[in-house]
Amino acid sequence: MTAIILRNGLVVGSHTVSSGDVLIEDGRVSAVGPALDAPLGTHEVDASGCWIGPGLVDLHVHLREPGREAAENVESGARAGAMGGFTALVAMPNTEPALDNVALVAYVLERGERTGLDVAVAGAITQGRRGELLAPMAEMAALGVRLFTDDGVGVQDPSMMRRALTYARPLGVRLAQHCEDEALAGAGSMNEGSTSSRLGLIGRPALAEELMVMRDIELVRLTGGSLHFLHLSTRRSIAMVAAARREGLDVTCEVAPHHFTLDERACEGFDPLFKVHPPLRTRDDVAALREGLLDGTVDAVATDHAPHAPELKDLAFDEAPAGMLGLEHSAALTFEALGGANADPLVFFALLSRGPARVAQLRASDLRVRHSAHGGAIVAGEDANLVVFDPSARWTVRRDELHGRSTNTPYDGRELLGRVRATIARGRLVVEDGALT
Ligand SMILES: [Zn+2]
Repeated sequence: MTAIILRNGLVVGSHTVSSGDVLIEDGRVSAVGPALDAPLGTHEVDASGCWIGPGLVDLHVHLREPGREAAENVESGARAGAMGGFTALVAMPNTEPALDNVALVAYVLERGERTGLDVAVAGAITQGRRGELLAPMAEMAALGVRLFTDDGVGVQDPSMMRRALTYARPLGVRLAQHCEDEALAGAGSMNEGSTSSRLGLIGRPALAEELMVMRDIELVRLTGGSLHFLHLSTRRSIAMVAAARREGLDVTCEVAPHHFTLDERACEGFDPLFKVHPPLRTRDDVAALREGLLDGTVDAVATDHAPHAPELKDLAFDEAPAGMLGLEHSAALTFEALGGANADPLVFFALLSRGPARVAQLRASDLRVRHSAHGGAIVAGEDANLVVFDPSARWTVRRDELHGRSTNTPYDGRELLGRVRATIARGRLVVEDGALT
């Protein structure tokens, strides 16, 4: 394995930042400091003007394998992830068939091992994600699965969710909920409100999400369980999580870049690229999510990267599938939301690496056999999962220049500030000068 040295960057540790170099040998960080000596033949990466931080972790990615490989597969998703600065991805289980048993989980883990990144798997809570019978979570946990979800839908039946929280507790795993009460969300295709009325589209009310957040906080209180709220999108949801946390309940939450950069008015052109569940909300909700990013209520930014084959996104708004791409522009969108040139690198890496690694249990302290450690400190001995992020680079999103198999980004043509210059995953340089190696 070639030694790599990252020269003259701003090294973003867990609590402090310092200028210097990072030397990587044999898959690990071997030295950190100013003007380091490097062995002969070391590959040098100029990181001047850049942040050197822990590799980004996306705990919510739809890799579509097995079943919908025309839209994405593990390998193509990992490519897009590397371009986005990610060194670890958590694959969601709403594949066809669902990842609800050890054979399928092992299959996706094995596919992940052939990529340059660490690919972890979230297992389904219920068999077939149908919400009727518990999936064999203990068996999947024995394979290293640490997050369970029926994402795509939430577990609708409160008694099933209660049982799942109770069952998961001794396994040391965390459940993750897609919060939408299907009875209330119904056939809605965008946020319910004056905009949906004006456009003549059926709405999905904020309350569909908030009722389930409320219910699940009470179920966590009842069971003593651990729960992660996926892609929260409303002011009240964030406030409820903050209050539950103050009470000491073990709840965590994530928000997705589209929910803090776009609002419901994006649906006015009836372009299905802007259709997503939960839907894009109001300007006030966007403001609340941004406050949550800054005040520590939000544990993680997660993309909910949801590739769809082009023919599906060409359908009418109310018939098209929900979901949009996220991996390649998440870092820049988060950087902008944190204040762009004024963004605090500690908060940036807390939201994109350290927080999600903690929720998904990918840190050194909870290491599984199959993974290297993510979201840690940048010190000698740590696994070398790192990113070099250039906070002053401007670039424009081009849908036909993305690296996954699908092009359903709502940000085509948008100019962004902040770009991933290099990604070092498992000790190897997988992205250099903003291109795959
Ligand atoms: Zn979801």
